[in-house]
Amino acid sequence: MNVASVKIENASFVITVDPDRRIVADASILIEGDRIARVAKADDLRDASADRVIDASDMVVTPGFVNGHMHISYAHATRGIFPDDLGPEYLPNVFGLQSVMTEEEERLTSLLALTELLKHGTTTLLDPGSTKHIEACMAAYKDSGCRIITGRHVTDRPNPLNVPVYPTAEAIEITRRTIEDMDGRLSGRMRAWAMPFSPEYASDELLLACRRLADERDTGLTLHFNVGGATAEKYMSRYGVTPTRRLADLGVLGPNVTLAHGLGISRDDVDVVAVTGARVVMCPTAAVKGGAGMASTALLPEMLEAGVDVGLGTDAGNNSNLVETMRSMYLAAVLYKDGRRDVTQVPAETAVELATLRGARALGLGDEIGSVEEGKRADLVLFDTRRAEWRTLFNPVNNLVYNADGRSVHTVIVDGRVVVEDHVPAFVDEWELIQQVQRIGEDMLARTGVRFPSRWPIG
Ligand SMILES: [Zn+2]
Repeated sequence: MNVASVKIENASFVITVDPDRRIVADASILIEGDRIARVAKADDLRDASADRVIDASDMVVTPGFVNGHMHISYAHATRGIFPDDLGPEYLPNVFGLQSVMTEEEERLTSLLALTELLKHGTTTLLDPGSTKHIEACMAAYKDSGCRIITGRHVTDRPNPLNVPVYPTAEAIEITRRTIEDMDGRLSGRMRAWAMPFSPEYASDELLLACRRLADERDTGLTLHFNVGGATAEKYMSRYGVTPTRRLADLGVLGPNVTLAHGLGISRDDVDVVAVTGARVVMCPTAAVKGGAGMASTALLPEMLEAGVDVGLGTDAGNNSNLVETMRSMYLAAVLYKDGRRDVTQVPAETAVELATLRGARALGLGDEIGSVEEGKRADLVLFDTRRAEWRTLFNPVNNLVYNADGRSVHTVIVDGRVVVEDHVPAFVDEWELIQQVQRIGEDMLARTGVRFPSRWPIG
């Protein structure tokens, strides 16, 4: 429901992530249109009226969470089919399944993924270009009310992943057209970026053209960036430098570029990234399930130290498998403590920043979202703390990071619009949608012949 003003009243705590990192106890928030108008003690806003009042007693309010890397389109239709020890055949199967989706299948599957994201408090996501029928999916983005960065992933080099390969000029033209057609739609809730899939499968010409398009159109560029091991060796023997240095020397990196995953960036190269102003989104949920050794191969603490804007993602529903930004936030807080045997690594407060304000900055949206501040977009999450896992409650940041998960999300607001209310999505019949997507998944598996039987007998 769109209303002119909303008042969130009597929250136990508002974790603002504002410049002073205030946690306001006994607080109320006034929203006017799509912006936050006031954040104050409940008593100070007692007389303020609004078209709609939400009772936030016993609730903790946070900024909406930002998921900076999540393939939205296909995975929910066939989620959970892949064995967890699947090797290099994993990605060709994933993109093979995705490539057969019809417009309607992709719209419904995307809508289910958005339902999961929003219900668990993620209000902004970046889909790194794997959506095939973006125009058809616009209905899902519009209906759900999410904030989204989209694009079309392109390559101009043969790849074993089943990612579409185009002649270079066509890949550039697809990127240009996608930005032109999509950027700024949904009342500005949608941005469109350049999305060359990865440096391994894109020519220098394509990478540079994508960067130029991002500059000219005042938008962003993202690409998959897993550059340790064999990739690093290949670059060293071909160019005599690391992949990160090569990309920086080429002129691809810059303040509007977001590197996804960021695995295998060396300590020296962290400074290279920092100097260019490029940003990084890490996907702990995918990294740990994929056995990436995140605490040693993803230098998150070093990047923060160097001043790099780092955000969090979850990658796709087939490799995470739960696409909940909060789970990535939890992992960011615990992985480095364990992996480096050092409890001072990534404090809970930093983990909250990664999932909110830093995550917003990593997508170039730090001025608009990521904190509960007057003048910012009203993207908010209300957690119901009348639940065992939230109690007892003294330090809401610790409880948010280490105790809670998305199941306690009660209400979600994006751009001032209530999209989840009392744990229920306001934009869809969830159970009906689930049944539709189950049928879509069964049909896709039958059409493609993709089959991974359960290791335990089902029958
Ligand atoms: Zn990805």
